Amino acid sequence: MRLCASSAGRYALQNVPITLRPRGMMPQAVAGPEIERLIQLLARMPGLGPRSARRAALQLIKKRDTLLGPLADAMRIAAERIVVCSSCGNVDTSEPCTICRDPERDPSTLVVVEDVSDLWALERSGAVKARYHVLGGVLSALDGVRPEHLNLASLVERAALPEVKEIILALNATVDGQTTAHYVTESIRHLDRKVTRLAHGVPVGGELDYLDEGTLSAAIRSRTAF
Ligand SMILES: [Zn+2]
Repeated sequence: MRLCASSAGRYALQNVPITLRPRGMMPQAVAGPEIERLIQLLARMPGLGPRSARRAALQLIKKRDTLLGPLADAMRIAAERIVVCSSCGNVDTSEPCTICRDPERDPSTLVVVEDVSDLWALERSGAVKARYHVLGGVLSALDGVRPEHLNLASLVERAALPEVKEIILALNATVDGQTTAHYVTESIRHLDRKVTRLAHGVPVGGELDYLDEGTLSAAIRSRTAF
């Protein structure tokens, strides 16, 4: 873009051709293929669109020594060492995973979760000190997810271990989550274990006026003695 000084001392555009990009067409690359690839890969991250990916890439490039290099090393090492725990389905750099090896964990309780992100969320809460079982998804007729696609067989095997007394179904309060909860319950019914699920209802700090009718009904049904 060329600028020239006008008589008033201000800068004005001069003979700058304006081209309109057709809707939906990708913007022209502004950097070399290595940087463009970095941006494209960052843009695949959840929560990062193309604009945020460019901003993140630029930040990485600016902090090449303190951020980009260490991050690249950490990602390479993680990519080399990450394994899926054959016992619980968690991801870690050791097999069995850190949680399965932890002797402080209560071996009598198995917490069933849909995904590793749910396991991490429960661990952040510090509410339970048990072992987990990651299903790797939930049953979904719409998405074609059937029981054989999930870690269900290994769950039945683990639930049958003599030390296991309770199965906590920590699945999402969605139709698919609850369908899966029912399926798991039926699959282990013959083992005669205590099967519980997370309470549904008023969130901590929540106001009744803002809750939907389904949540309020669930809260009334799940009421406890005060
Ligand atoms: Zn494990």
